Amino acid sequence: MVSEFDLIRRYFTHPVRNTVLGVGDDAALIRLTPGTEMAVSTDMLVAGRHFFHDDDPFQLGQKALAVNLSDLAAMGATPRWATLALALPEADENWLQAFSDGFFDMALKYGVDLIGGDTTRGPLTLCVQIMGEVTAGMALRRDGAKPGDEVWVSGHLGDAALALAYLQQRIALTPPEAAACLPALHTPHPRIALGEALVGVAHSAIDVSDGLLADLSHILEASAVAAEVAFATLPASAALRAHLPEGVAQDCLLAGGDDYELCFTAPLDRHGEVAAIARRLELTLTCIGKIREGKGLRLLDGAGHDMPLGAMGFDHFSKGESREATPRPPLPQAGEGRGEGSDPGVSCHDC
Ligand code: ADP
Ligand code: MG
Repeated sequence: MVSEFDLIRRYFTHPVRNTVLGVGDDAALIRLTPGTEMAVSTDMLVAGRHFFHDDDPFQLGQKALAVNLSDLAAMGATPRWATLALALPEADENWLQAFSDGFFDMALKYGVDLIGGDTTRGPLTLCVQIMGEVTAGMALRRDGAKPGDEVWVSGHLGDAALALAYLQQRIALTPPEAAACLPALHTPHPRIALGEALVGVAHSAIDVSDGLLADLSHILEASAVAAEVAFATLPASAALRAHLPEGVAQDCLLAGGDDYELCFTAPLDRHGEVAAIARRLELTLTCIGKIREGKGLRLLDGAGHDMPLGAMGFDHFSKGESREATPRPPLPQAGEGRGEGSDPGVSCHDC
């Protein structure tokens, strides 16, 4: 069996670009750009809880980094360095090669150096720490929302949760619908360019990892403000929209996890700038509501009436949602899904 040192050298040692000293010593050395602050975040993915044991290792490598990059996007930070702590049940070299390829595919795309980590035997667990830089004092935080701000979200919401519901046989999708939403679950796109563009424009931001209602509520609590969100404006894909009469699909849209889109607030007088960012990045940005004085989140129907807020986001402990040994339908064939960069293009809906 391959030794731990060979394994690290073979699969996790790549040339570094932003770094004084990378993998191989007792600690890495990094030099911060003067005038910046470091944004640091960690996310752990546990097999059976956050992904299936037999998930494609290349996509898993991409996703382990993507979910961390999403946290930096939400801060408006530029990604620079990552560490990777792995618990592996065995040293399966095919799995490691594919995982490493996926991880470095994402790392290269976003200019991240892998500068260290830890490798141990244990139940399959992937833990990434990401570090990035943001101009001092300019990070997008959760506590900056102001009454009068517009609330925006990027992309579509709920597709990843819809794909998971499909894999867990909680909802029936046609093969084209399944093919359309599965990429959102397996290959999320961290909104780094959007986060960077929103620095100096947005008042607050968060990435939607636990569902829109839960994550927007974090902004409201941190900023001590309230919000009104118009249900009809929530950006849903055609696949999700087709199932919206079903409770499962509504839950996906409002409280599904794994979206990795950004939810942010920006003052009304920056509306045009946000719309220009949407056009420049060719990314759908949708204004879904307003920040108000007070407390709490109101979801309004087309007539302006309050809708009951049911599921308030994915809670890892109370719901005990698991991806263990669930019977699954056959996956659509490659090529049936949305390709990379198939965002619907520019669209900026007015509130
Ligand atoms: P130590 O015993 O000092 O913790 P290790 O043997 O764990 O050292 O690691 C040796 C080097 O390899 C260190 O630089 C460490 O950061 C790096 N490393 C270990 N595991 C990984 C990994 N999965 N990905 C990237 N670097 C790793
Ligand atoms: Mg170690």
